[in-house]
Amino acid sequence: MNDLKLTDSNLELSGVFSAEAFKSHEQVVFCHDPETGLKAIIGIHDTTLGPALGGTRMWSYQNEHEAIRDVLRLSRGMTYKASISGLNLGGGKAVIIGDSRKDKTDALMQKFGEYVNSLSGRYITAEDVGINTHDMEMVKMKTDHVTGIPVEMGGSGDPSPVTAYGVFMGMKAAAHYKFGSADLAGKRVMVQGIGHVGETLVKYLSEAGAQVMINDIHMDRMEEVATKYQAQIHQGDVFTADYDIYAPCALGATVNPESIERLSATIIAGAANNQLANEHRDAETLKNKGILYAPDFLINAGGLINVYSEIAKYDRAESMRRTENIYDTTLAIFRKAEIENITTHQAALIMAEERIAKAKAEKN
Ligand code: NAD
Repeated sequence: MNDLKLTDSNLELSGVFSAEAFKSHEQVVFCHDPETGLKAIIGIHDTTLGPALGGTRMWSYQNEHEAIRDVLRLSRGMTYKASISGLNLGGGKAVIIGDSRKDKTDALMQKFGEYVNSLSGRYITAEDVGINTHDMEMVKMKTDHVTGIPVEMGGSGDPSPVTAYGVFMGMKAAAHYKFGSADLAGKRVMVQGIGHVGETLVKYLSEAGAQVMINDIHMDRMEEVATKYQAQIHQGDVFTADYDIYAPCALGATVNPESIERLSATIIAGAANNQLANEHRDAETLKNKGILYAPDFLINAGGLINVYSEIAKYDRAESMRRTENIYDTTLAIFRKAEIENITTHQAALIMAEERIAKAKAEKN
């Protein structure tokens, strides 16, 4: 298998187009502006179903290789997310390299907006980790190809509460399938990452009577959320604690052979994208251990459903109704996986790929 090799001293291009990570992408755009310090990568994975829509993430990547890998994985996930949610959208994503607490400026975000604009609508951006509605306002100054802008500007605002609602629906479906009841009262749930999505998920869970444990790298956030929703702070390794449901709501790849080995939970249902470090290997291990995995790109689609609605004419009630359907789709995926003796991840991928293949066939 070829791999992407980029080092400081040597930009090795041979084999890039056949590299496993890159193979299925239509376009990858590198954006560099020394004046504002912008270093961004936009990944457009597949536009069969429509323009590639996906959020922009700002993160302190260790190196550019890590950022490329992230944008390729995330944009591919968006293709499947849009497809399985029945949306006429393709998959795309952008990453900005830098610390969002220190390096982000209005000028940098506006410059990023210019790059998005240069793609003439093939890529539509929105928020992701490290990016907020104010940043989208800055992007909007340079391009119309942006969603998730503030409500005051005619947009749908922060998509995270809708994402959290969808995750809650997916988690309830998983509880129904695993425990025989969708009622989460008394269930011990570990929410890892209590940012935009995580906090709202904690709210839904505490309203449902679940025993919520929270974990984050920022102590101030944990104290705030713990006080607001009577959640229990868990410091350190989340996989050593005892609970029923693990909700990864920080970054990806937290589900891997080491964490699965120690995990006491029998359900994984969270918001983070690309939760499985190695999708097929880890999904298989979860299946063999009897841990029910609610596919991330299926249950975290609420935000995408919400921003999709903004493109036509924003209707919050309709977005919430469509997001509620995640409950039924998740159950359908669990049943398909069981009947066909495949992983839940595979079942969701097959369903998403079938819709894309059908659209391709109709175009030809
Ligand atoms: P956010 O930046 O608001 O929150 C992320 C939180 O995770 C922060 O509080 C951060 O401190 C914490 N965190 C980071 N690393 C951690 C670690 N190692 N351990 C514990 N906590 C850690 O982001 P968000 O918008 O809430 O998104 C959370 C996840 O959900 C991301 O993976 C994102 O891609 C995914 N997602 C978000 C949306 C959305 O609508 N915002 C939609 C779909 C998927």
